[in-house]
Amino acid sequence: MSARRHPELGNLIVFDHPLLAHKITLLRDTETGKKLFKELVDEVSMLMTYEVTADMPSEPREVETPLERTSGVRVPGQRITLVPVLRAGLGMVEGVMRALPTMRVGHIGLQRQHDTLEPVDYYFKIPPRPEERYFIVTDPMLATGGSASAAIAYLKRAGARSIRLMCIVAAPEGVRRLAGDHPDVTVYTAVLDRELNEHGYILPGLGDAGDRLFGTV
Ligand code: URA
Repeated sequence: MSARRHPELGNLIVFDHPLLAHKITLLRDTETGKKLFKELVDEVSMLMTYEVTADMPSEPREVETPLERTSGVRVPGQRITLVPVLRAGLGMVEGVMRALPTMRVGHIGLQRQHDTLEPVDYYFKIPPRPEERYFIVTDPMLATGGSASAAIAYLKRAGARSIRLMCIVAAPEGVRRLAGDHPDVTVYTAVLDRELNEHGYILPGLGDAGDRLFGTV
């Protein structure tokens, strides 16, 4: 799966593959129903996982083939921890876990405080020893970046040191916000879109990912 660092947004890696572009086009299509939408999110997430985990450590491991002993590798999947940001981030979990089934899964639920409009967590559960783990935060739409930034801040406060963000569609506004708030976090996106509209939706985007995933349109 080919992907490259964005020339101006240094914290961003954007995928560049006709198969992904094809699937993103179907995701954008307003005619795509709930079942196909979820299947596409699964496939896109699984394909992206190979690149998102490309620099993660592996350990040497000997293996006995039917013919002889040879050297191989083992990726310590238990140390890689997926953290979907509720609700839409949940839609990416199955796809990522198809690529790496031994991953651990935490959860972060955020809601806006009425007075400050700042996102605060109403649910936060991650596995023990966060300082030893490689975290992948999933949220399919990186719009303003407010909730992704808050989710990452909560993880850091809990002790996480290695964090990356995986989304499907990103807006430049959200990528810049992440670069400012968390310069140590690389953002991976299948596609970088043009801008946000006045309601915080990504243009051209694909609409409300959570509603399309869970049928709450
Ligand atoms: N969240 C979504 O689901 N879609 C957008 O376009 C922006 C935020």
